[in-house]
Amino acid sequence: MEKVLQGQIALITGSSSGIGAGVAKSLAEAGATVVVNYSSDKSKASADAVLKEITDAGGTGVVIQCDVSEEDQVSKLFADVIAKYGTIDILINNAGLQRDAKFHEMTLEEWNTVIKVNLTGQFLCAREAIREFLRRGPRPEVSAATGKIICMSSVHEVIPWAGHVNYAASKGGIKLMMQSLAQEYGPQGIRVNSICPGAIQTPINRGAWETPQALNSLMTLIPYNRIGQPSDIGNLAVFLASDLSDYITGASIFIDGGMTVFESFADNG
Ligand code: NAD
Repeated sequence: MEKVLQGQIALITGSSSGIGAGVAKSLAEAGATVVVNYSSDKSKASADAVLKEITDAGGTGVVIQCDVSEEDQVSKLFADVIAKYGTIDILINNAGLQRDAKFHEMTLEEWNTVIKVNLTGQFLCAREAIREFLRRGPRPEVSAATGKIICMSSVHEVIPWAGHVNYAASKGGIKLMMQSLAQEYGPQGIRVNSICPGAIQTPINRGAWETPQALNSLMTLIPYNRIGQPSDIGNLAVFLASDLSDYITGASIFIDGGMTVFESFADNG
């Protein structure tokens, strides 16, 4: 891969597994120094394994623990990254989770947990990143933009999702947070965009792909007829983080094998 991110520092939240791990590997392959973030002790070994794969391939980075929903931990994460590397150029706001329930049975805890990690976590990290971008100003030697933020949203920022109202609400919130940030900080050279994945093969949606029956049922939603891989998202993240996309800000880019063209309408013509 061309080293389009050479000399840049990238933080990828929730990168001990799934999409975050794939994005960390792709950004490192493109030349970025990566911060692999994990939240709890049980994910440390996976985070270390992601970094080992990166360094074995010639990349550089570090592993740092932080629960993105806790303000003091997020402040410390950014302080540690800036102390180690001097600044940060790219934030991938990726950490997320699901707590599914029928809406009339959903507990306040299930609602709050999802909003706190998926939406408030993105707010806390974006705020720290923007503070740092404003403090340091442009770095034209590495990028045309002063800083880049990429929010991991979902097709569910536009497709309603029964049984997952907390998750869909969090992703809908990300859409307008992202666009409002792009509007507010465009004049300072900060680009903010969202990646909206469809079905990507990761632990978060294991039930949707781990049996042949589940996978067949999933394919009825995907015109392109395959499940996505973390590397698909990694390729898009490299593009959105690099100057190749320098005129893109405030955009939600769907990467879903066509899920948002609504396959189920194909036979109704
Ligand atoms: P995943 O479960 O493998 O990854 C989620 C990561 O977030 C995990 O590493 C987890 O430890 C981390 N995390 C959870 N809470 C955290 C916290 N408080 N602080 C820091 N990290 C925390 O699932 P994934 O599919 O890789 O999900 C990554 C992102 O992609 C999520 O935002 C998810 O909503 C989004 N997404 C996934 C799909 C898909 O099909 N897999 C589709 C659309 C959007």
